[in-house]
Amino acid sequence: MKVGIVGAGNVGATAAFAMVTTGAASEIVLVDLDAALAHAQAQDILHATPLSKPVRVRAGGYADLKGANVVVLAAGVGQRPGETRLELLGRNAKVFGTIIPAVLEAAPEAILLVATNPLDVMTEIAAKISRLPPERVFGSGTILDSARFRALLGEHLDIAPTSVHAYVLGEHGDSEVLWWSGASAAGLTVTEMAAQRGRPLDAEVRARIDSGVRRAADSIIRGKGATWFGIGGGLARIVQAIRSDEHALLSVSAPTAEIVGIEGVTLSLPRVVGARGIVATLTPVLDDDERAALVRSATILKEAAAGLAL
Ligand code: ADP
Repeated sequence: MKVGIVGAGNVGATAAFAMVTTGAASEIVLVDLDAALAHAQAQDILHATPLSKPVRVRAGGYADLKGANVVVLAAGVGQRPGETRLELLGRNAKVFGTIIPAVLEAAPEAILLVATNPLDVMTEIAAKISRLPPERVFGSGTILDSARFRALLGEHLDIAPTSVHAYVLGEHGDSEVLWWSGASAAGLTVTEMAAQRGRPLDAEVRARIDSGVRRAADSIIRGKGATWFGIGGGLARIVQAIRSDEHALLSVSAPTAEIVGIEGVTLSLPRVVGARGIVATLTPVLDDDERAALVRSATILKEAAAGLAL
């Protein structure tokens, strides 16, 4: 499967590398405004291919995206000193305004997979600019937050995180909602599992896990300035689900007609991901607190998008 990546910075290049090591793609084309950077990243990643999977990796222009099944949008500009979040968003919206028409001209059948932050609003912008059907334009959303939630639950319960099913809903950011009442392992709620394992999920443990999930990016950014490995792995996981028409249940961000009474908002929910993109969206059954938190998160996202007058 051919994958294009626009934006060969830390996130785009790491996603490409993760696709090489997992074999999620058979051909990868890196495109960046900085052509020398795209070329250098492609060369560096190519040199890992004899040691991992046989993936063709090269740098190119938009025309080289022809025939791509998926194009990852990882391009963006950094915040300038004194710039507000909304001004930054406006500049990133402009970047998407130039990139997306060029991508679709070369690869009109491609699925657009958004990785640029703020993720949910950028996904909404991509949907509006591209006018693609909602199943074909979505963002990595809370795939990584859900993975962190599963990892921390698995660690506390002393069971493999792959055996824990748990999702983070709403914004990929501060207002995200850890869906505790929907978290399970072996068909048991995590509360029941915790009791059987003799490791209760008391308020203190829950608060620690909540903060470990919600604050993970802050702590990584304090140490190294930005995050890229986790998200690179998450993007490769989504591309793998598309390549294998896996119908995997992943929490990804997409325009959503209605959730918790809020209409027309772009956020993460558990969705079935396959070769055509989003095959189905599931409606979580929430307790009262979770529902209130998701209303809050959806409202914040709706207001952020409205501020851009899209
Ligand atoms: P991140 O950590 O999100 O990957 P980076 O700054 O490392 O952030 O990467 C963002 C990349 O997006 C940069 O390499 C930059 O050159 C690229 N970029 C910015 N604007 C455009 C654009 N209009 N077209 C293509 N690439 C762009």
